[in-house]
Amino acid sequence: MSKKILIVGSGFAGFWGALGAARVLANEGRTADVEIALVSPEPILYMRPRLHETEPERMGTPIAAQLEEAGVRYIQGTVECINEQDRRVEAVTAAGERIGIDYDRLLLTTGSRMFRPDVPGLREHAFSVDQYDEAVALDEHLKGLASRASSAARNTVAVVGGGFTGIEVASEMPSRLREIFGEEVACRVLLIERSPLIGPELGAGPRPVIEEALDSLGVERLHGSAVVSLDDNGLTTADGTRVDAMTIVWTGGVRASALAGQIGAQRDHLGRLQVTADMRVNGAAGIFAAGDVAVAATDEQGNQTMMACQHAIDMGRYAGHNVAADVLGLPTIPYRQPFYVTCLDLGAWGAVYTEGWERNVKMLGAKAKALKTRINTEWIYPPRADRATLLDAADWRNSAVA
Ligand SMILES: Cc1cc2nc3c(=O)[nH]c(=O)nc-3n(C[C@H](O)[C@H](O)[C@H](O)COP(=O)(O)OP(=O)(O)OC[C@H]3O[C@@H](n4cnc5c(N)ncnc54)[C@H](O)[C@@H]3O)c2cc1C
Repeated sequence: MSKKILIVGSGFAGFWGALGAARVLANEGRTADVEIALVSPEPILYMRPRLHETEPERMGTPIAAQLEEAGVRYIQGTVECINEQDRRVEAVTAAGERIGIDYDRLLLTTGSRMFRPDVPGLREHAFSVDQYDEAVALDEHLKGLASRASSAARNTVAVVGGGFTGIEVASEMPSRLREIFGEEVACRVLLIERSPLIGPELGAGPRPVIEEALDSLGVERLHGSAVVSLDDNGLTTADGTRVDAMTIVWTGGVRASALAGQIGAQRDHLGRLQVTADMRVNGAAGIFAAGDVAVAATDEQGNQTMMACQHAIDMGRYAGHNVAADVLGLPTIPYRQPFYVTCLDLGAWGAVYTEGWERNVKMLGAKAKALKTRINTEWIYPPRADRATLLDAADWRNSAVA
């Protein structure tokens, strides 16, 4: 093997990036000349969009078989350092061993992490559904509450942040609590948003539907005041409101993986690497990026990628194609994804589906929930298939899912 492509991360962008690169090598008959390796902490694709659901321990899908089938070498490790000059990364294995991995082309797909601002008590007292282990910890905590004496604080869940994730967590919570405490216990779910409106970044289109769903589910709302402190029995907001709650779920925004900060290139306010139309990191030789760690133009109208599977999956396909094309000296292809949709889970009430960047509501309730269920249980899952089918699925011409 004379050349090496290294993909860092095995989420949506990394998985599809690896297959996209493998597809190019196979089509060009160059699998013997170029090695594709993927490094991540585990050969698992975690279904982050489902971590607000019950039984989050089900939300990891093994991908070792698909990578092997596609001819991608898997390396277990967490990358700690990217050395752009030497084209080498340093990783730490599960056994604590430090390893160096050389590359000719790097595709960074290390995703994002929830941002924890410096609010007193947040780190000690808030749960989250951002990462798999955090969602499992919340689930265990909720189940553990069932054996404690009933009280207002025990029976209250405060969800902080009324964006996409906070709305999905709050909508799901009433049925999760009924499952754990039983029908007869009166539980309280409170969604706290510092802006005057719920879902500030969702826009006016779907808001009435979301409000109707939250009302029907009995989710209370507290708007217009930020949470300023958390303790082991609740939280306080800037206007002095006190909420007694043994469960506080923080969903206040995410930032790109810290590895993006090691690359000397332009980043946006979320820490995402600005990439060119062919997914190359501006000004970083040999480095491409895709998914939540990167930001790209989706069209000619000035719209940019969101931190969403819909974009991570397609950015992965394009970036995988281009990283392999680049190493082989072939022309790259420009990423374009003008069709934008959202499908927001609203728990037992249903869901809301929108199209376009203005988020025009196209479907709601049970019908939209059926679509959301298909997205979340079929479309975002890595296929189990033979080599030809897997590589075909990684074709950048395949359209995106929500
Ligand atoms: C609760 C929740 C609900 C969501 N709902 C939706 C939704 O409804 N629709 C939607 O489109 N999106 C949703 N999202 C967002 C979506 O999950 C992300 O946009 C998507 O996961 C991004 O994919 P990615 O491949 O860029 O990153 P990730 O899926 O985060 O994968 C990152 C990968 O990088 C690996 N990694 C990280 N650091 C390192 C390192 N140092 N070394 C090696 N490997 C590393 C990780 O282990 C992982 O394998 C939701 C997210 C959450 C948390």
